[in-house]
Amino acid sequence: MKKSILPLALLGLSAVVSHAALANTQVMMLGTGTPVPDGERAGSGIAVIHDDEAYVFDIGPGVVERATQAAERFDIEPLNPTNIDHLFLTHLHSDHILDFPELLGTYWWRRTDQLQVFGPEGAQAMSEGAYSMLADDTETRLKDKSPVTNPDAAYADVTEITASGTVFEKDDIKVEAFPVSHGDWDKAYGYKVTTPDKTIVISGDTSINEEVRRQAANADILIHEVISRRGWEALPEQWQAYHQYAHTLTDELAELAGAAEPNLLVLYHVLHYGAPIESVLDEVQSQYDGEVVLADDLDLFQ
Ligand SMILES: [Zn+2]
Ligand SMILES: [Zn+2]
Repeated sequence: MKKSILPLALLGLSAVVSHAALANTQVMMLGTGTPVPDGERAGSGIAVIHDDEAYVFDIGPGVVERATQAAERFDIEPLNPTNIDHLFLTHLHSDHILDFPELLGTYWWRRTDQLQVFGPEGAQAMSEGAYSMLADDTETRLKDKSPVTNPDAAYADVTEITASGTVFEKDDIKVEAFPVSHGDWDKAYGYKVTTPDKTIVISGDTSINEEVRRQAANADILIHEVISRRGWEALPEQWQAYHQYAHTLTDELAELAGAAEPNLLVLYHVLHYGAPIESVLDEVQSQYDGEVVLADDLDLFQ
């Protein structure tokens, strides 16, 4: 949270966690990494916590362990893995889904509710792969003498998103999906979460994208992926071409944020290669004068 304190203070927001604060919408960064192995960063994962429920966006490697850490350290019970009932997937790249079997399989026999999954076409097949992987565990526990709270909880309830718009709505929280442009993925989505006290936009993985700019207009928090121009410039030509096709360079993001004017821009899923990771913050700040932070795992925004 260290880097979040200054911008949050400037926003008039508080970084102090308490039970009372759970009435407000919080954002917990469960994983800020990329496919590049990084001992400090889990794969992609963001939790929006509202009204004692956690809504998790992507489930990259290490995210479930981070959720457990967040639950323990910040006393956020909805982040205990068996309490996570809502998962939204931006796309099916490995750094966004590898902890899916982990979330499904962790202590599932004590789960009350089935995990609801929303994601692009292919999410059902991905889930069935996890069921196969866990088949012996599931079958043995179901016929064991140890009690299973809800046998259906061994499986997820998957909804494949076929069109942009509202994909989930319950009481005063709404989740909308919108298409983004991520290399050769036919179906990659960003998400907008609206609650009475916050609008949060999550880019997912995308090249510079007009729809993200539109969705993020005046958002409270825009959480956006980014690639360092300095790091990108040192890459071989082929990799430069791929990254420009699939990801958003710092100067492109600065321009997008300048047009969308979110209250807070949070950088995550940072590709930086040879450049230090902090270079993305310098690069964005050199062309954008709004509030911006470089997120670490377990940063909390509220
Ligand atoms: Zn990714
Ligand atoms: Zn990706």
